[in-house]
Amino acid sequence: MTTSFELKRRVEELLNEEVGTIYGDAPHRVALVYPSPYRVGMSSLGYQSIYRVLNEREDVVCERSFLPDDPEEYRVSQTPLFTYESETPVGDCDVVAFSFSYEVEIVGLLTCLELAGLPLRQKDRGANWPLVVVGGPITFSNPLPVGPFADVMVMGEGEELVHLVLDWWKDTEDREAFLRDIAMVPGIYVPSIHGETLRAVAQARDEYLPAYSPIVTPNTELSSMHLVENARGCHRGCTFCVMRRTTNGGMRAVATERVLQTIPDHVERVGLVGAATSDHPEILDIMGAIVDGGRQVSLSSLRADRLDDDFVGILASGGARTLTVASDGTSQRMRDFARKGIKEKHLRRCAELVRDHKMRLLKLYMVFAYPGETMEDIEEMIEFLRELSKICKVALGLSPLVAKKNTPLDGSPFEDQKVIQERVKKVHRELGGLVDIRATSARWAWIEYELAQGGFDMADAAEEAYEKGGGYGAWKRAIKRHRSGPAPLAKVGHKLRQGAMLPEEMRTR
Ligand code: SF4
Repeated sequence: MTTSFELKRRVEELLNEEVGTIYGDAPHRVALVYPSPYRVGMSSLGYQSIYRVLNEREDVVCERSFLPDDPEEYRVSQTPLFTYESETPVGDCDVVAFSFSYEVEIVGLLTCLELAGLPLRQKDRGANWPLVVVGGPITFSNPLPVGPFADVMVMGEGEELVHLVLDWWKDTEDREAFLRDIAMVPGIYVPSIHGETLRAVAQARDEYLPAYSPIVTPNTELSSMHLVENARGCHRGCTFCVMRRTTNGGMRAVATERVLQTIPDHVERVGLVGAATSDHPEILDIMGAIVDGGRQVSLSSLRADRLDDDFVGILASGGARTLTVASDGTSQRMRDFARKGIKEKHLRRCAELVRDHKMRLLKLYMVFAYPGETMEDIEEMIEFLRELSKICKVALGLSPLVAKKNTPLDGSPFEDQKVIQERVKKVHRELGGLVDIRATSARWAWIEYELAQGGFDMADAAEEAYEKGGGYGAWKRAIKRHRSGPAPLAKVGHKLRQGAMLPEEMRTR
């Protein structure tokens, strides 16, 4: 049996490999919890950035905690979830703040609450429990399934509002009065008061930009990389995307010198992060300065229509061996439907650039199973990928459409899982030897969809699924038992496949 001592030594080993860890002491302690393991959480720019921002305060120390790789080890050894920096039990902190990115992480969030010894439901936590705050990318779309577990949610860009929450919380002696008062603030969502009526997302002032990571560690998915955002938001309008221009007023480009100033001397790899990093008007200057400084550079998102010889030349000289772009539609018809603005000629050019710059691989992300997609669209993709694979080595990432709230495709049905599997099988059959294919599980995409479209009913489903072990079968039964609305599946999907019920925006633009 693993002991508490061993669990803490493991954390110590991770800390020993970090550069930039913030240690401190202050009258108030915030546990910043990521509901996935360390490797994932430490790759999150938003998580790292909030850690830095909170530790700039003199009255607060913010310490990290993560979903353990094996929560059972904590249960069996009766080790409460603890913060990395001081090994303080998370349940003893004044505030437990979650950075929440992805719908299916809700089981991780519940597991962290359980391991911290906190009642899961907000209504079961009395005056003496820590305040549970939730923020992160999920708040741009649909945080309702998390609502019954949170005291307060910070909607959208949290850098400014977290200060307000902490200022008010540390001065209050009356939890109920605090919740009533903070519920009046734009951008703050208090589920116990607002119910299922979501609040608009907040936008942080420009002086809070750019977000950047204080800690560099080899033990993340983005190993030993300094993360910095060069642009926030996006001015484009892809219809499946939560970060489209309507969400937060379009792209805000960060001044080049401000991006570069954040890079510490010791860093050898820099990741430029953002919804639309390659759309920054001075992106070549930023990348060029990083590479000229002897560092590697990579970008979190590359638009195929922005890439040319200069762009890919800098990327290649900065160490990139893979060019990753999104097609996000199996055919031109589907890309147009998604308002992606990408044409075959852009993708073909990307393949040529991979070849010309002696890169190893073109990785293509593809959303499929949109309303109205047919086998003909899949066949068009297969033919095109055959052509691309003659130019360079190609990998394909296939993800079925998961319609999100706060997008024009909100409410679109999830395609029948059998149809999705048939399409994936066909792609494997036709392209198996030529292209490296990775497909998202249709089953888990369906769970993501139900959570993305659900309300507080999905909190009940999540709690039950969590109690039953969190496997697919447990989720399926829990969703069917608790879903309050009509099943948004097959019948509507059938009509949409015939193009009869396309959303208004799709028909008119
Ligand atoms: S998919 Fe990319 S380009 Fe399209 S709206 Fe989203 S962030 Fe912008």
